[in-house]
Amino acid sequence: MQRKSILASIVAILALSVLGYSAWNFVKERSAQSCKACTRPVHSHMKTVAVLDGKREVYCCPACALSEHQQSGKQVQVVELTDYLSNEPVEPERGFVVRNGDVNPCLQHHPAVGENNQPLQAHFDRCSPSVLAFQDQKAAAAFAGEHGGQVVKFSAFASEFQR
Ligand SMILES: [Zn+2]
Repeated sequence: MQRKSILASIVAILALSVLGYSAWNFVKERSAQSCKACTRPVHSHMKTVAVLDGKREVYCCPACALSEHQQSGKQVQVVELTDYLSNEPVEPERGFVVRNGDVNPCLQHHPAVGENNQPLQAHFDRCSPSVLAFQDQKAAAAFAGEHGGQVVKFSAFASEFQR
């Protein structure tokens, strides 16, 4: 009888610690998925990884990662982009971006539209205009055809931020 209750307590303790561990992991996972620069939640299809001062950091979009250089003066190197359509990682040297398109998941609210149909720019937003990454130039061009914006090689886009 005694043995049984000891066994039961051990099982209960084990179950609790597994539960606690997964809860802790969940919290850790959540906090790892907010943008280093603007603390927005990182959308998985826009995830951008950059090395800042030798540390790997996760950003919500390429623009946010690159603007870190202008904001902090530190060296930023983007080491991984995510294809907006497939969610697959993209090597920055091979990637393309569509900027100024009308899709910007970073902005949770649509910009207010003024009488002349121009969006009102209330305040500076480092994630605006939108910058989405693509693995494939054709896919990027097709996306831009539908949503507006220009297709630019990521390397060319990134060099604009290094000035
Ligand atoms: Zn951000």
